[in-house]
Amino acid sequence: MTKQKRILITGAAGFLGSHLADRAIKEGYHVIGMDNLITGNIRNIEHLFPLPNFEFYHHDITKFIHIPGELDYILHFASPASPIDYLKMPIQTLKVGSLGTHNCLGLAKAKGARMLIASTSEVYGDPLVHPQTEEYWGNVNPVGPRGVYDEAKRFQEAITMAYHTFHGVETRIVRIFNTYGPRMRLDDGRALPAFVSQALSGNDITVFGDGSQTRSFCYVSDLVDGIYRLLWSDYHLPVNIGNPVEITIKQFADEIIKLTGTDQKVVYHPLPTDDPKQRQPDITKARTLLGWEPKVSREEGLKVTLDYFKSVLA
Ligand code: UDP
Repeated sequence: MTKQKRILITGAAGFLGSHLADRAIKEGYHVIGMDNLITGNIRNIEHLFPLPNFEFYHHDITKFIHIPGELDYILHFASPASPIDYLKMPIQTLKVGSLGTHNCLGLAKAKGARMLIASTSEVYGDPLVHPQTEEYWGNVNPVGPRGVYDEAKRFQEAITMAYHTFHGVETRIVRIFNTYGPRMRLDDGRALPAFVSQALSGNDITVFGDGSQTRSFCYVSDLVDGIYRLLWSDYHLPVNIGNPVEITIKQFADEIIKLTGTDQKVVYHPLPTDDPKQRQPDITKARTLLGWEPKVSREEGLKVTLDYFKSVLA
């Protein structure tokens, strides 16, 4: 019998972390979840606590991390990730991306574990190349309000490459584009939960700017599949994972109004500073290296997500 793999997931109580934990359990791994719960929610992983192959540490990874025993994989997903969260918690965002990543890499080195870090399309900033390929270096304002997240993630990529090159740690870097699905926080301020909660509570839909900025939304199960494919691959350079179907935020707002069956008005608010005007992943690398392709249409994904939000509000 092959030995059971042991995986550490930082940010395990978060939106993505909890879905990654579910998948790891399905793979038969022993899962060690870690979270300081500043943006994560223990309810996202409550169903895993009775399982013998799940354990949880309430821990801040910017402090030394101790894990007894062997470790095969680390998925480093701890970080505030929505613009209003990292604007509220700029220092924690910078610390988890820098000190937290350093601690995880130290742990990976000590255990001989393979580590995958959650990077982001934000490393491209307000992109001047469209769609974004991994070769594009980005257009980030380091001193703007989003700089705390963007630069933390860029540093995270740099230190991860350094551990790979200088210490021979096996590392993987995923650049995640806008993702949605059950377990997103209704109050996380992002477009989808904001629009849904506004529509369901009978409020106007707040579109920032003129709504012509674009995003490309990926359903969470597709993202999780891409991440595990990358983890198991032998490719150490960054790979974009996201759904390349691009829409404007105004179109997105109209879709949510239609889906929720409400007749809310769209109202326009000022565009936040440095809000990227366009975003679409070039996923040629994921297609060719990982054989990955998103499968869930926005129509299907939004239906499931709306049911989830309704259940939370019920
Ligand atoms: N947005 C909006 N109204 C809201 C929340 C967000 O128009 O209530 C816009 C936001 O300005 C951005 C897009 O929707 O252009 C996606 O924002 P989100 O916060 O979801 O993620 P981002 O891709 O900016 O990180």
